[in-house]
Parts: sequence; structure tokens; C-alpha cells
Amino acid sequence: MRALQYTAIGQPPEILDIDRPTPAAGQVLLRVSAAGLCHSDAFIMGLSATDYVYGLPLTLGHEGVGTVAELGEGATGVRVGDVVAVYGPWGCGQCVPCSRGEENYCLRAAELGITPPGLGAPGAMAEYMLVDDPRHLVPIKGLDPVQVVSLTDAGLTPYHAIKQELDLLQPGSTAVVIGAGGLGHVAVQILRAICSTTVIALDISDEKLDLATKIGAHHVLRSDTEASAAIHELTDGVGADVVLDFVGSQATLEIARTSVRVNGSIVIVGIGGGLLPSGFFSTPFGVRVRNPYWGTRDELVEVLELARTGQIHVEVEKFGLDDGPKAYERLHAGTIRGRAVLVP
Ligand code: NAD
Ligand code: ZN
Ligand code: ZN
Repeated sequence: MRALQYTAIGQPPEILDIDRPTPAAGQVLLRVSAAGLCHSDAFIMGLSATDYVYGLPLTLGHEGVGTVAELGEGATGVRVGDVVAVYGPWGCGQCVPCSRGEENYCLRAAELGITPPGLGAPGAMAEYMLVDDPRHLVPIKGLDPVQVVSLTDAGLTPYHAIKQELDLLQPGSTAVVIGAGGLGHVAVQILRAICSTTVIALDISDEKLDLATKIGAHHVLRSDTEASAAIHELTDGVGADVVLDFVGSQATLEIARTSVRVNGSIVIVGIGGGLLPSGFFSTPFGVRVRNPYWGTRDELVEVLELARTGQIHVEVEKFGLDDGPKAYERLHAGTIRGRAVLVP
């Protein structure tokens, strides 16, 4: 089968012919219908040999939807032919967070060598992929695989981040979304769908700001040194209740730090490598800071429901599997509108 693999540090990913996997006991084999590209893929492919820990060759793709093709011995709960989304943050299934469905915060995954598909385990950018357990599959019930595949990360991650902030997102509140890309453009829609908050979106690209307006942001601003003054102006001098940073660079964290209000919240989702100084004089009084990771299985079910009822959607740019390397070039150049999705 064809697969898009990262094979050598610093080199672009390539299409290779590899053996079609066979599901071992308890596993499920999917025929992949769609696989999404995430900026995190670009991040790991930019790491040096010393920092890269995901194994080579790596079949990319941690957003996947497919049709169940074969069940390993004893695998139950799904049937051949079911169309399912892959819940990617695989955990041990046994520790306390896993017992709550929070496998994204598994306490033992590292120790047990459990890694998500496309971030250690072979991912979705191939004609077939293995899923380690049926509990990591969620039926999409008639939704279009290409339209919903990115909800498994670009939807789930902001949904999880926003749900933790709902106490602050009351009517009259303001939420700032920094970076209206794959995750950010879904975040804007989730904020509009599940809370009554005013949404201000920031980006460095006019096209992304246009998209943010189109999908529901109340205000859009250039992400620059003037941004936090503009946010204060839009909030009667108070600042934003919640700042969701989908970039996480030093420059964007500085915008977050200077635009959040007293007792507000900064949520760092982007892995841009910036650090927020901590200490009594760093932020306004009472500000809390979180760095959420991915989301829980029940939240994925909820995100899919938001799509089913038409409250959120992903703007998709579709590519064939063979065009995967080109799609990553576009992602790297920042010219993807919404999310890029590969269709094997
Ligand atoms: P993306 O490339 O699709 O979008 C990034 C957006 O940020 C683009 O629109 C870009 O124009 C904009 N941008 C770049 N620099 C900016 C700046 N200085 N100010 C404002 N906007 C700026 O990326 P994505 O796939 O949406 O991922 C976003 C981030 O989230 C990445 O860092 C990714 O690795 C991370 N991520 C984190 C998690 C998690 O669990 N915490 C999960 C998925 C992705
Ligand atoms: Zn991702
Ligand atoms: Zn666990």
C-alpha cells in the first residue's frame, strides 16, 4: 500500500510502498478515507536528530477517518464496514485519567511506550492504518469523512481548551483567538456555538482574518505590537476574559499576557516554543494559565454532534495522498485556508 512517511531528519516526507498491516489480537484495521495535516507534523519534522523522538520511518497523520476493513482476534464493538473517526491520544485505558476517558492525560503512556498514530505509531496517511483498540474509534454516523476528519484534532483540541474556560465565558465576556488557522478557525466557531462571548480573532495573514470574519468572529485584528491596545479598546479598557493562543510564540504570549484581564485566563495551545514568565508581576492579578493537550473521547463525540447539527464546520483543502508532500509545503508556507486533508 502507499503511505506518506517521514524517513530522514530534515528531509521532506515521501510516498513509499509498504506492506499492508495485519491487525493483531484486539486491533482494528481501517481502510483510510481521509487524513488531516496538522502544524504539529511540521513541528516534529523541523526537530533536530537529538530532539526527534517519534521513530523513523514514521507514517504521518494523527487525524484519521476510515472504514473498518478487518478485526483482529477478539476485537469487538465495531463491525467491518463501519465508518469511524480515530480518537488519537491513545492511553493505557487503566489509569485514573484514562478511566475518565481522558486518555490525552494518561499517566502511563510514556512509560508503556504508547504513542498516538502519526506521532510514533503508524498514522493515517496511508491506504490502511491500524488502530490499537476499538475504544479509540467513534462512529461518524453518516457525516462526510473529508469534512469531519480534522474534528479529531483541529476540532477536539480547541473544544477541550474552551470547555475548561466556560466559567469565564459568560454573556458580556470577550475571548481572543490568536492564530485563525486549522485549530483557530474551528475555535472561533466553537466559541460562537457553545457560549455567548464576543470573539476577537488575531492573525498575521489578511486571508485568515477574512476567514475568521466569515465564520463568525465579531472583530479581527492584525497580530502585532498594537494588538493588545486594540483589545483593551474593544473591551472598555478591561482586557479579555480568555486568551486562547494557537501559536504559542514569544510574540503571541506577550500579546496574551498584556491583553488578558484581572482574573482572566491564558490558554496556550500552540507549541511555538514561547515561554510566559510566571510571578507576581508577570500578569494581571489572579490570571490562570493552562497548556491543554488534545481532548477526551466524550468531547470528540460532542464535537461531531456540533458538526452534525451544522454549528461548526472545517474549511477543507483537499489533496490526493500522492500530493501530501506538496500539501505540507503549503502548510509550512502558511497558505492553507482552514485544514488540508489527504484522500488516499
Ligand atoms: P496552522 O498552521 O493551521 O495555523 C496557524 C495560524 O497561526 C495561521 O493562520 C498563521 O497565519 C497564524 N499565525 C502565525 N504566526 C502568528 C502570529 N505571530 N500571530 C497570530 N497568528 C499567527 O496550525 P494548526 O494546525 O492550527 O496548529 C496551531 C498550533 O497548535 C500549532 O503550534 C500546533 O502544533 C498546535 N497544536 C497543539 C495541540 C495541543 O494539543 N496543544 C494540538 C494540535 C495542534
Ligand atoms: Zn495535531
Ligand atoms: Zn492511562
